Parts: sequence; structure tokens; C-alpha cells
Amino acid sequence: MNIDLPTLMLAGSFVAAISGAFLFFAWLQNRDATGPLWWAGANLSLAIGVPLLSSAGSQFGLPSVMLGILFLNLSPAMVWAAAVSCNQRRPNPLIVVAGATIWLVAVLVIFRLGSEAQMALNLAVIAIYLLAAAAEFWLGNRGLQTRWPLIVLLVLHGTFFAAGAVLAATGGLGAGYPPAFDSWLGLIHFETLAFVIGTAIFAVAMVKEQREMEQMTAARVDPLTGVANRRAFLENAGLLLERAASEGKPLSLVVFDLDRFKVINDTYGHAMGDRVLEAFGDIVQGVLRNSDVVGRMGGEEFAIALSESTARASVVVAERIRCAFAEACRGFGMADLRPTLSGGVAEAGVTGGNSLDSLFAAADRALYRAKAAGRDIVVIDDGIATPQPVPKPDDAPQPAVATAQAA
Ligand code: GH3
Ligand code: MG
Ligand code: MG
Repeated sequence: MNIDLPTLMLAGSFVAAISGAFLFFAWLQNRDATGPLWWAGANLSLAIGVPLLSSAGSQFGLPSVMLGILFLNLSPAMVWAAAVSCNQRRPNPLIVVAGATIWLVAVLVIFRLGSEAQMALNLAVIAIYLLAAAAEFWLGNRGLQTRWPLIVLLVLHGTFFAAGAVLAATGGLGAGYPPAFDSWLGLIHFETLAFVIGTAIFAVAMVKEQREMEQMTAARVDPLTGVANRRAFLENAGLLLERAASEGKPLSLVVFDLDRFKVINDTYGHAMGDRVLEAFGDIVQGVLRNSDVVGRMGGEEFAIALSESTARASVVVAERIRCAFAEACRGFGMADLRPTLSGGVAEAGVTGGNSLDSLFAAADRALYRAKAAGRDIVVIDDGIATPQPVPKPDDAPQPAVATAQAA
């Protein structure tokens, strides 16, 4: 079977146009993700550039060939822009056009480069964009499986162009560019087909995977406070408890309940209440270690599970949160009503039993006592199931009680 180079390049151009259209329609379905749109632009650029380059027998200096080369320089630049977009950043348009501009200026104005040097610069620009795009996918999008085939395809494609640039710069490109079939660089014609088809498929698959991951995260995170929701917390805390039991290490649970929150809402409005909840979310996430977990159990109730932490050590953490919360809320301008919180602490295997349910029961018992003792304190569960009645919260604003933990 004989394949001639212009036919193969024309077929490549068609493939690039079709995959560009495929990426464009993928973008139409989800316009928030601009990666496929950039990538569609890259493939359409390639679809235009390749016939322009091959039509005139690739003689450098001809306007159509120069235009073709500009499109071929823009194409990988847009691939890079697509990679940046996939990392939730905005690509700088100046960087997108920089490669083509540098090439044009270098060729026409500054150096009046010879054809070998023109080729070397053109191939080097393409290689740099492709490898930069691979680096973008490498550094960002961690956790996405579909980034790996994209990285492999980009590195392979970029390496071909880098090798071509070195060959051109050292005078080893012989018959010129596009390379002939019988040179090893001629493999680039087939590799480009695989690159164009493969990247279109995996780029769309990646956006889909990204969307699924976002939906999964949204299903596990409380949107107001940014901490895990009840379901996710119970799962995370359950895993921590299992690990603590198997390793024979301590684990404590602290349940927090914001004090007289209804009065805050009634006095300052729901929006202020939300702001106070957000402040709690920020503070608790700033105080906890990576190995701890926090969740919003509902309304103004939160829980944290502290691994490798006894009840006594956990009180210190809970107190830090209590004080930081009161301090942060000082800035909200609620002169006569300072938001405070109460906490109950229990340790697994001590008074908290061995299950998450019993641990919650024990921490709730301690929280009950904290409320009964006047609020704004953290109490360790003593294992004695004698809850006292909780005084009904006054509707009138009350000054916070600055008491130490009553453990
Ligand atoms: P106590 O000190 O005994 O805990 O009293 P409290 O007022 O905090 O407890 P109560 O359970 O009576 O009131 C909880 C309030 O929390 C009632 C509810 O409207 C409010 N709340 C629950 N979720 C939200 C929310 O997402 N935003 C706001 N602003 N308020 C909320
Ligand atoms: Mg409550
Ligand atoms: Mg409350």
C-alpha cells in the first residue's frame, strides 16, 4: 500500500476538523468548562494550518506557508490554554499568541532567519507549548485518572517536536519539514493522528470526570460552612474510630452547639446567623490537623473527631476553638450579644464505648451538662448518666459566661 504525504496530511486535517467539532459540541453541553473550547480551537487551527503548509510544497517564505506555520504555532498554544482552563485558571491570551508572534517577528523583522532556523524555531515553539500543557496536567487535576493519557500523549507529541527542533537546528532535517516518511521523524504524521483523536476523547472524558468529582464533593460538603456534612462526617469519623481501635490509639469526639443561636437569628437576622456559622467553619478548619475530621451535624451543631487524642488533649483543642470563635464574632458588631458555643467531649473506649453511636451519646451527655452549667464552656463526659434539665434559653440577649472547662 502506498500512502503519499500530502494525502495523509489532508486526512490529518480532516481528522483535526472533526475532532475540533466534537470538542466544540462537548463545550456547548457544558459552557462552564472552557477547556474543550480551547482544545476545539487548537484542532481547528491545526485543520487550517496543515493544508496551508503542504499546499505550496512547503517553501518557506511563501505567504500561505507562513500563515500555515502561524496556525500550527497557535494550535499547541491553545492546547496549553485548554490545560490551564482545565486547572480552573484563566489562560493569558498574550501567552497564547506569544509563540506565533515571536516566530513571525524573528523570521520577518529581527533576524531574517534562514529556512533551517525558521523550522527549528517553529518546532521548538510547538514543543514548548505541548510540554508546558503536559506540566499543567501533571501539576493540577490531581485525583483525575483521565489526566494520565493526556500527559502521555502530550509528552510524546512534544518530544517529537523537540527532536525535530534539534534536528533542524543542527542541519539534520535533510529534505525539510514536513519530514519525509522514510525519516524516523516521519512517524510524526501517524503520531499526530493518534494525538488529535486521543486527546479529543480524553479531554472530553476528563471534563466529565471533573464534573462527577465536583458533584461527589458537593454531596459531601456543607455549602455554608465548607465542612463535611452529616453523612460524610459519620463516614469519616467511623473510619477514624476503626483505625484507632485496630491500632490501640485514643480517639475523641467533641460535639459543639452554638449558644442561644435562635436569639442571634431573631435579633440580628438570619444572614448574620449564617455569617456566624461560616466563621465557625473557618475557625475549626484552621485549628484542626489533617488527621482530624469535622462535620456539620445539622443546624448550629457540629462535631469533630480527633485521632490519637485523649479527652484531656481534646479539651485543649475544643477550648482553642471556643476562644477563637468568640474572638472572631467580636468583629461582627453585635454589641449586646456575643455568640458563644458549648462543647461536650468523650473518648472512645473510656466513657464513650466502642461505637460511634455510644461515643456520640457520651459527648452529647457532656454537652448537655455544658448547657446546664450556663453555656460557653467545654465539658468532658464523666460517664455518669444523670443529665440535669437544661434551663430554657432566655429570649433576652445575655452576656457570655467566660468560664473554663468544667472537667
Ligand atoms: P441553645 O443555647 O440551647 O443551643 O439554644 P439555641 O437557640 O442555639 O438552640 P435552638 O435549637 O433553640 O435554636 C437553633 C437555631 O438555629 C434555630 C434555627 O433557626 C437556627 N438555624 C439552624 N440552621 C441555621 C442556618 O443554616 N442558618 C441560620 N442563620 N440559622 C440556623
Ligand atoms: Mg442545637
Ligand atoms: Mg444552640
